[in-house]
Amino acid sequence: MEMRVETLGQDEPRLAIVGAIHGDEPCGAHAIETLLDADPDVTRPVKCITVNERALARNMRYTERDLNRVFPGDPDADAYETRLAHELLEELHGCITLSMHSTQSDERPFALVNTVGSLAMGICPYLSVVGVIETGELIGQSLVDHTPVIDVECGLQGTDQAAANAVQLVREFLAVTGALPDMSVEQHRLHVYRLCERIPKQRPGDCDVLVKNFEPVPAGTPYASIDNHVLVAEDSFHPVLLSASGYESQFGYAAELIGTLGHD
Ligand SMILES: [Zn+2]
Repeated sequence: MEMRVETLGQDEPRLAIVGAIHGDEPCGAHAIETLLDADPDVTRPVKCITVNERALARNMRYTERDLNRVFPGDPDADAYETRLAHELLEELHGCITLSMHSTQSDERPFALVNTVGSLAMGICPYLSVVGVIETGELIGQSLVDHTPVIDVECGLQGTDQAAANAVQLVREFLAVTGALPDMSVEQHRLHVYRLCERIPKQRPGDCDVLVKNFEPVPAGTPYASIDNHVLVAEDSFHPVLLSASGYESQFGYAAELIGTLGHD
């Protein structure tokens, strides 16, 4: 298997940093390289995993299967990513994890968790994110469904800003979990959204998005178009992970605002 695993510090890590679950999102691998090069004196050991090096080398999302749709994986599967998913979960056993992604939907970092519990409440308000998204059952077979992890979307795919944001998010995660005690982090208030449904692309065509992620879309608002056909919101929603070409068969997700975390 071509999964790069390095440990900062001594003893068995209970913290992990994960990058390159998707090979065409280089920000996480960059943040891991930056951390390993800086080699800071961590007071808790940290496992650093660059997951899909094979896809990363080809700048492809995956080679055979979308890794973030095949968890918990299977060590005997034919598909490379299905075996990799199993191996990654073994590596992350007993760890609290930060996993880095990037997106075509929004330049502002945001976090995704399966359910907002003590882990998200303790960590997310200290990260430079604009919100937290509860994925619940909607995405399915992704890493957040199988291990204590905070996924972060660090910014727009392939940009220097996403790479810089990833470096910062790693530092904040290690500070708030006590691995970098000399670094101070402040908490801030952030919104929590829950995914409600996929927003499908009913047919292929030239797609456009007409609304901004996280901003409320009232019922009756045109929110996207396919060729010259305009799609209008039947009910109000908050768009999340919405982009013209980020996914083949859907624009993104409709979410509802369910609360806030932290304070200013
Ligand atoms: Zn990703």
